[in-house]
Amino acid sequence: MFDDFYSRHYPLSSIGKENQLKLKYRTVLVAGMGGLGTVSSQLLNSLGIGKIKIIDFDVIEQSNLPRQTLYTVDDIGKAKVEQAKIQLSKRNPFTKVEDVMTRIDAINVTNLITGVDLIIDGLDKFTTRRILFRAARSLKIPYIFAGAIAETGNVMSFNHDDEYPCLECIIGDTTDDESQSCEIRGVNPVILHLTAGIQVNEAMKILLDKKPDLLGKMQLIDVTELDFDLINIAKKDNCALCSIEKDNLEKGTVGDTTKGEREIGKHGKSLITSLCGRDTYIFDPKWDINWNFTEITDSISKQWNVKSTGRDYITFNIRTTSISLVNTGIATIRSAGKIKNAINVMNELFDYIKK
Ligand SMILES: [Zn+2]
Repeated sequence: MFDDFYSRHYPLSSIGKENQLKLKYRTVLVAGMGGLGTVSSQLLNSLGIGKIKIIDFDVIEQSNLPRQTLYTVDDIGKAKVEQAKIQLSKRNPFTKVEDVMTRIDAINVTNLITGVDLIIDGLDKFTTRRILFRAARSLKIPYIFAGAIAETGNVMSFNHDDEYPCLECIIGDTTDDESQSCEIRGVNPVILHLTAGIQVNEAMKILLDKKPDLLGKMQLIDVTELDFDLINIAKKDNCALCSIEKDNLEKGTVGDTTKGEREIGKHGKSLITSLCGRDTYIFDPKWDINWNFTEITDSISKQWNVKSTGRDYITFNIRTTSISLVNTGIATIRSAGKIKNAINVMNELFDYIKK
């Protein structure tokens, strides 16, 4: 049945039989299930991605229906992710859809993206994009940006290689300007399909280990006079993200994101990212994490106050700090104050785990 289902993909040089099987083992996160996310998730679903994780906190409104083609009149008032999951599942029995109804923030972002192979940006806020992109960069998860408003759209791919610009080289510290929202400027459904289509084409290439076309380049699309422009984007000299990833973590806990490696006691080195102005650090240990995560969570719950647990994570307190540890060993430490304290807490945790 699988072969039958995908029989029209097998003759394609862009997919083919072998790659169709590869896609079955890929997980893609679609952040935002509005105008772009509804289109990109349908394409990913059609292409046979093994698992699609969809995230949105919104409910369906009447004004969404002309462009958000997964939803119907009967769905008004219901959660976007729930209805999207129902529709997507009806269209492809071979793709698993996980729906998460939440707003992406600096606290939940690491848990949300851990384990996915690629992130599709279907967001409409720069503030959320910045949080998602920074987390994706610290975990080295490829990220495909797309934006669309009125009759124009743009798409760009990021694999986090140093030679290419990062998202913040382009958006800088742009804030969300209400006069540029789709409520005010409108959005043509056609531009959403073109933009999301190009975005998913890029995603496919990355998922199949091919080089995407939009690294360091932005595809601009304008349907008023049908224009496709490809522009080169250079790295920004003093980009707040990629040009200060040099290693100046000590500089502070407020205002800037920095990144570098530190020794964690006798355990080894860990990459540490400090998140913008939030007194939050993400630790990505470089030593071998070889553990039974269920045993680890059991043991942690005997020692510290546990706030919540899931199959792949545990959130608990060590004194005044809050820690979310995921099964890959990546830990997000909040309310730790200075970097030194965060490192001490991380060391204490791994000393305990090793015992
Ligand atoms: Zn940059």
